[in-house]
Amino acid sequence: MRTAGNGGAERVPLLQAEALHKFYGAGQYAVKALDGVDLEIKRGELLVILGSSGSGKSTLLNMLGGMDRPDSGSIRFQGKDISRLNDRGLTDYRRRNIGFIFQSFNLIAELTVRENVALTADTSRDARIVDRTLDMLGLGDKKNSYPSQLSGGQQQRTAIARALAGRADLLLCDEPTGALDYDTGKQILIQLEALVREQGKTVVIVTHTQEIGKMADRVVRMRDGRIIAETENEAPVPAESIEW
Ligand code: ADP
Ligand code: MG
Repeated sequence: MRTAGNGGAERVPLLQAEALHKFYGAGQYAVKALDGVDLEIKRGELLVILGSSGSGKSTLLNMLGGMDRPDSGSIRFQGKDISRLNDRGLTDYRRRNIGFIFQSFNLIAELTVRENVALTADTSRDARIVDRTLDMLGLGDKKNSYPSQLSGGQQQRTAIARALAGRADLLLCDEPTGALDYDTGKQILIQLEALVREQGKTVVIVTHTQEIGKMADRVVRMRDGRIIAETENEAPVPAESIEW
């Protein structure tokens, strides 16, 4: 396993966000969801973003993943500003680069579990990966079920399988353990960790669970739409040993 702290210098920034602002609503009802966020994400790092509910975590993740645009500020992916892309450009950016685990699953109701997962994979080549990922997440007997036939935890695992089976180098995970029982949540964290440590992927986990920060290379804390602290973990704790 790679240890953190030895890779800092050679890791080039994958994503650079500068002075991000995002408002919802207008006038006296306007909510400042992001209030000047600067954040750099390095290739191959495991970053955990901590913050209580309403601190702007999902908003930030959506901007980074090209699901939405900031009102001001810039987001550069490998040096290219994605915050100015048109809809088609953004869709293209997401398809090529981003695996998303949403807080609210975002499964397609008309597709079976297998079809939902196969969406992000290159189906002909990766059919086995899709099946293997579903088996690993305990969804082997649900492959032909539809999302409406699944429990919340099973829907979450399907969304996670979709991100794991995909080929994106950057995984953005919004409260990935939120809807899961403890053991399944832990398995997910172990899988996400393996993607970073063994496959060199970049993983960002948003959570309000402090303990999950221990597995990260770096922890960023948010409050009221701002980053209020940033910590490097010299020796990240393996996900397996984390308890919350
Ligand atoms: P977190 O993910 O940390 O819980 P969010 O990014 O979801 O926080 O929300 C940040 C703030 O923006 C909150 O005050 C929330 O109520 C508000 N907000 C988020 N999305 C919307 C929206 N679509 N419309 C109005 N307000 C929103
Ligand atoms: Mg959220």
